[in-house]
Amino acid sequence: MNPAEQRPAENIQRDWPRLKPVETGLRGRCPRCGKGHIFDGFLKMRDRCEVCGLSYDFADPADGPAFFVMCFACVPAVIFALVLQVKAEPPFWVHLLTSLPFLVATCLLPLRPLKGWLVASQYFYQARPGRLVDADNELDKTRT
Ligand SMILES: [Zn+2]
Repeated sequence: MNPAEQRPAENIQRDWPRLKPVETGLRGRCPRCGKGHIFDGFLKMRDRCEVCGLSYDFADPADGPAFFVMCFACVPAVIFALVLQVKAEPPFWVHLLTSLPFLVATCLLPLRPLKGWLVASQYFYQARPGRLVDADNELDKTRT
């Protein structure tokens, strides 16, 4: 195991330059070293960086990339298809050649860079799931 992984997250970040999530994530690069790869395939995450050994266990973008694609890519593609239909009233095959490829391209192509950006942002801002304070332990601390 890489010795840097055994230290707390704050120390790990001090040993490496703080790389901007946009620069590393959009290219699918490791958020710590900027050289390794995040993905093993189109959207599947690697277990760890092959260059610096950073474990990607922290990465959990959930449905964030799909949300951004739905909001910023799918809507314009659907509007394009609707405007094309209303303005030109083309036969159905025109939509198969224009609207469908445009819709698929605007849905699939941004997924990978968006997922990389969200994972890199999680690392950069040290985002973690929230935890509730253990009420029993807090009471014990106040009694002693
Ligand atoms: Zn790395």
